Amino acid sequence: MAVPSQDLMSTIVSLCKRRGFIFQSSEIYGGLNSCWDYGPLGVELKRNVKEAWWRSMVTNRRDIVGIDASILMHPKVWEASGHLAGFTDPLVDCKACKSRFRADHLDNLDKCPKCGGQLTEIRKFNLMFKTFMGPVEDQSATVFMRPETAQGIFVNFLNVQQSSRLKPPFGIAQIGKSFRNEITPGNFTYRTREFEQMEMEFFVPPTEDEQWYDYWKEQRLNWYKNHGIKSDNLRMREHGKDELAHYAKACADIEYKFPFGWSELEGIANRTDFDLKRHSEASGKSLAFFDEESKSHYFPYVVEPAAGADRATLAFLVDSYDVEGEGKDARTVLRLHPSLSPIKAAVLPLVKRDGMPEMAEKIYKELLDNSIKSFYDHTAAIGRRYARQDEVGTPFCITIDSQSLEDQTVTIRERDSREQFRVAAASVVETVSKKIKVKSL
Ligand code: ATP
Repeated sequence: MAVPSQDLMSTIVSLCKRRGFIFQSSEIYGGLNSCWDYGPLGVELKRNVKEAWWRSMVTNRRDIVGIDASILMHPKVWEASGHLAGFTDPLVDCKACKSRFRADHLDNLDKCPKCGGQLTEIRKFNLMFKTFMGPVEDQSATVFMRPETAQGIFVNFLNVQQSSRLKPPFGIAQIGKSFRNEITPGNFTYRTREFEQMEMEFFVPPTEDEQWYDYWKEQRLNWYKNHGIKSDNLRMREHGKDELAHYAKACADIEYKFPFGWSELEGIANRTDFDLKRHSEASGKSLAFFDEESKSHYFPYVVEPAAGADRATLAFLVDSYDVEGEGKDARTVLRLHPSLSPIKAAVLPLVKRDGMPEMAEKIYKELLDNSIKSFYDHTAAIGRRYARQDEVGTPFCITIDSQSLEDQTVTIRERDSREQFRVAAASVVETVSKKIKVKSL
């Protein structure tokens, strides 16, 4: 059954709260606008998204390494990168109803889209959060919360390249928090002021930038598809020249068809040698790479796939949400890719007696001992217990019934097909592991 898109977001928001995926930050104080907390299931899902990204970008590759740079950086970083002068959004206010908009999100700047009132002139608004380092709050102590993780990679370019003895083409990846004082946050976790990015800077010889740009666009689009997002809900949008950021030669967005419309999930940019050159000039320390073969220095070009962990998590939630059947037979299922599911297996003794709980407990312990996140549930009728697991995307339910005690077998029920098959109790861990095993995605 298709859920109307205007209702889908509110359905997802309430499912997230009810089942412990995402809560409003500081809820008991009325909440803090645009800030969200991940609950027990949400934190597992988001960690799985980040781990899937890390596996495909770092663990499974020979040409990419990771770093974890600090959020606070020398203020000169932001001067050199152009963020201090140019990391602005155009802001307009309605003179009548006082609503605030991003001018580039409006089709018509003649009147307020809410009340028809007159809009102010466009003002440039810098998105960086400021704070002070140390006890004295004066200008010399001003530092910024990073608005992107990329700069931590650029300033460490030579540290990483030399310590890891790498040669372009190679990449440096990072997952971490970024902060932007967004003018119009909203759409749940889609646009927030504190969020997590998954960025990778791929350093290439200057003549190879275009081929690597194409390569990364394809790789990243496939990553979403391989992790279960429907192809029809994904598209690549190449930026027009007038849209490009100050550092970019080319840029494309991977967009997802969210219930509120096609919106950016991830950007892939050709940042040229802009950042390495700017930091070399501003710091006086050259970040040029020394090529042993030609015995000369050059500034590599950079291709950057920049994704958001929160946006990706939201897309996986929305895309996997499904309601099967109608009325009282309706079943809500999160058809998450098993590698992303917060809980991989639920262990369900059919009844609370006759030795079933003991056998179930043994299987549960074995699953946990093998790092398979599992859940034990002996309350309510079995159908109800299946429904609870379907709703949070658990791919396998393991049921222990009276036959189990006789022949030491259990039933495994698959979430999507609802098919059930029997396996030896002793092989549950092996069977589930195989099914959730992450191939090289
Ligand atoms: P937008 O146009 O939506 O403001 P952007 O083009 O400024 O995004 P980038 O600078 O390319 O975004 O950042 C890379 C990724 O970081 C985005 O594709 C998105 O997934 C994530 N991201 C950026 N801003 C936010 C935000 N305010 N909240 C959540 N995720 C964000």
